Amino acid sequence: MSAAQHESDEIAAIRQAVRALCEKFPGEYWRALDRERAYPTEFVEALTGAGFLAALIPEQYGGSGLSMGAAIAIMEEIQANGCNGAACHAQMYVMGTLLRHGSPEQKQKFLPSIARGELRLQAFGVTEPTSGTDTLNLRTTAVRDNDHYVVNGQKIWTSRVEHSDLMLLLARTTPREQAQKRTEGLSVFLVDMREARGRGLTIRPIRTMMNHATTEVFFDDLRVPAENLIGREGQGFHYILSGMNAERILIAAECIGDAKWFIGRASGYARERNVFGRPIGQNQGVQFPIARAYAQMRGAELMVHEAAGLYEAGRDCGAEANMAKLLAADASWAAADMCVQTHGGFGFAEEFDIERKFRETRLYQVAPISTNLILSYLAEHVLGLPRSY
Ligand SMILES: Cc1cc2nc3c(=O)[nH]c(=O)nc-3n(C[C@H](O)[C@H](O)[C@H](O)COP(=O)(O)OP(=O)(O)OC[C@H]3O[C@@H](n4cnc5c(N)ncnc54)[C@H](O)[C@@H]3O)c2cc1C
Repeated sequence: MSAAQHESDEIAAIRQAVRALCEKFPGEYWRALDRERAYPTEFVEALTGAGFLAALIPEQYGGSGLSMGAAIAIMEEIQANGCNGAACHAQMYVMGTLLRHGSPEQKQKFLPSIARGELRLQAFGVTEPTSGTDTLNLRTTAVRDNDHYVVNGQKIWTSRVEHSDLMLLLARTTPREQAQKRTEGLSVFLVDMREARGRGLTIRPIRTMMNHATTEVFFDDLRVPAENLIGREGQGFHYILSGMNAERILIAAECIGDAKWFIGRASGYARERNVFGRPIGQNQGVQFPIARAYAQMRGAELMVHEAAGLYEAGRDCGAEANMAKLLAADASWAAADMCVQTHGGFGFAEEFDIERKFRETRLYQVAPISTNLILSYLAEHVLGLPRSY
């Protein structure tokens, strides 16, 4: 159902291995967790044990040193097999900020344990309740006090914090009016939550429409060792931006996987469900939406591969990564809607898993970047239109 026929034997083998792993986590597993809003610990442990989450960590730090092409195959396969990589996808890419901008000592200290899965770095504290998408307006502060920074403020939608040992935190170190440039004055820290919880860090879970382990996080005079500052003070916004392309490409691949799952389910059901004495899929009114969703998914998949190829070659891929995310999120959402419609009433029944996947894939119109903000980016940076905000 995909561009897989053009892929190397190595990537085909990775897909096969991910499929085999996912078979051990069928719909019943995800449904039970969804009901309780519980974390898929066994699934994440299995992915970690197989080394999949360390795909992008270079071999010198104990990772698998795989390409972005391999990483997107992993994330796509997870979703295409009915599982949900959102529980742990950040373990794959949040470390990129440390890898690109951390000191040799920081990399040596953290990356090998992250690669082994002993340290979970899958929490990413950027979004705040008042500033929202306007990241440069965030209010959480980190003030230097000898060999520490003292952090005060609040983050929202900080996902997986309760299932992570470290959090990558973006906080303001220079007041906005004193920063030389609009994009300066923010810094990135690695917060060790094993030490921080109860000592200035409070986590409050948010129940959402899908099972996502997301939270609000409060900082109240939290002391973070100065040695946990990543890169140079004041440059954090640039470091966070530099990691966003990888995040967008990987999440786009997840959306492609979701779309494939919905299209597969819909096609199967349309072939087998008989109404008026014939399969419903014999009606063009049923088969055309499935075919359209397939074409939409394949088009988006090409853009995901284009973005991944540019990323891999070390070339600028900002526009392609954004378009991949936009098109793939649209494709998965269109496929989700089509799949419910194809199933009629059964699309709403929990045991078919469609309503669960429908809720899960809806997120990607909003996070990690909303569709509107991607359109604004393309309008301004690719098409040269006036900045709209
Ligand atoms: C389940 C979940 C998990 C998340 N996980 C994380 C995480 O782990 N870490 C993290 O830091 N963040 C996380 N987020 C936050 C996510 O990245 C933001 O929700 C998203 O970027 C949108 O920001 P906002 O919710 O503040 O919306 P707002 O910025 O308030 O925007 C609201 C709406 O207005 C639109 N809008 C705003 N400004 C403009 C404009 N100038 N032009 C056009 N439209 C505009 C937006 O597109 C959006 O539709 C998560 C969110 C959710 C829901």
